[in-house]
Amino acid sequence: MSAPLLNPVEPEDHQALRRAVGDLARRYGPEYFRRKARAGEPVDELWAEAGKAGYLGVSLPVEYGGGGAGITELAIVLEEFGAAGCPLLMMIVSPAICGTVIARYGTEQQKLAWLPGLADGSRRMAFGITEPDAGSNSHRLTTTARRDGEDWLLTGRKVFISGIDHADAVLFVARTEDARTGRLKPALFVVPRETPGFEYRAIPMELLTAEKQFQVFLDDVRLPAEALVGAEDAGLEQLFAGLNPERVMTAAFALGLARQALATATDYARTRTVWDSPIGAHQAIAHPLAQCAIEIELARLMMLKAAQLYDQGHDAAAGEAANMAKYAAAEAACHTVDQAVHTLGGNGLTQEYGLAALLTATRVSRIAPVSREMILNYVAQHTLGLPRSY
Ligand SMILES: Cc1cc2nc3c(=O)[nH]c(=O)nc-3n(C[C@H](O)[C@H](O)[C@H](O)COP(=O)(O)OP(=O)(O)OC[C@H]3O[C@@H](n4cnc5c(N)ncnc54)[C@H](O)[C@@H]3O)c2cc1C
Repeated sequence: MSAPLLNPVEPEDHQALRRAVGDLARRYGPEYFRRKARAGEPVDELWAEAGKAGYLGVSLPVEYGGGGAGITELAIVLEEFGAAGCPLLMMIVSPAICGTVIARYGTEQQKLAWLPGLADGSRRMAFGITEPDAGSNSHRLTTTARRDGEDWLLTGRKVFISGIDHADAVLFVARTEDARTGRLKPALFVVPRETPGFEYRAIPMELLTAEKQFQVFLDDVRLPAEALVGAEDAGLEQLFAGLNPERVMTAAFALGLARQALATATDYARTRTVWDSPIGAHQAIAHPLAQCAIEIELARLMMLKAAQLYDQGHDAAAGEAANMAKYAAAEAACHTVDQAVHTLGGNGLTQEYGLAALLTATRVSRIAPVSREMILNYVAQHTLGLPRSY
């Protein structure tokens, strides 16, 4: 499915961006992407070309090599890559979370060191918040940064961290101890991948993606004072600056996959004939696909609303909208891929059509970065004012 329905409400420059990204992505296409993923290789050529064209850095500040636009444009880029069969998961992490946090809160030195590379794709940064014993409950994070003279010593465990092997560094969420109260508060640290004491091990996953997920072991990792991003006391605010773009981008990721699946299914249903007419003429096939098209379109509108609220600086409203958009996009994507697989019958499970791999890929968007249930908890509590249940 192309993007026709959004056109009347989308400015011409956004439509042009969609077309240009789609043209680039289609030159690589789903076969290239799946071949790389099966070989466990990074999609370096595509990433480099996307960076050179300015797509990866479209939301980063112009003075540090970016395009000076917003998360709206970055989400458009990711959605179009996914729709063309090239879902660049690391875009959620490297430019959207790490780039945004550094652009908003980094020191001048950190901005100069990282933003031009994140923007042109020559450098990549992973993001690590999830911990084995904390999971959805980030209040239980135990990775700790303590002072040792001017330095920091970072110790803890992380899990499911994407793309470390292709990244130059990881932006880790840790906790520092408040000297007055003894309470632990979040703080963000840039940790270059080769730092002594930082080890990572791939987790075998049933996912066909260009990135692996890793377990991380941080044992007294010594970091210079300048590894801390922003102020030690403003960790939570800084963290949220990255998490809203992360939710918007996960919605874009899911919607790209959903559009890819719906296009494959409708193409197939238009021509596959086992009785007298193509299977797409049967309402049992056509109606569920039409329902998916509606769900995708609604989620796209919600994603654009969330992105625009964020870009206009309405952080609180963006938080609610980004949660809703992520939820709606993940549900639309899971439903669409399920229906697409069914539409193709046995071919839905062949490698040739590539739909079966999307079953697990779309599930990721229901689980990460925040699960469906945690979003429902958020909406119940914050939107509806219901009592907290957990
Ligand atoms: C492919 C992939 C890539 C990822 N990449 C990254 C990354 O790059 N960086 C990173 O930091 N993390 C990453 N993650 C981790 C991801 O953000 C977590 O998996 C997610 O936050 C959920 O945590 P968990 O897996 O520990 O599940 P849990 O927290 O153990 O939850 C398990 C289940 O219990 C439910 N549940 C938990 N609490 C409640 C409650 N209060 N009410 C109702 N239901 C509840 C959840 O909804 C879920 O269904 C990735 C995960 C995946 C699968």
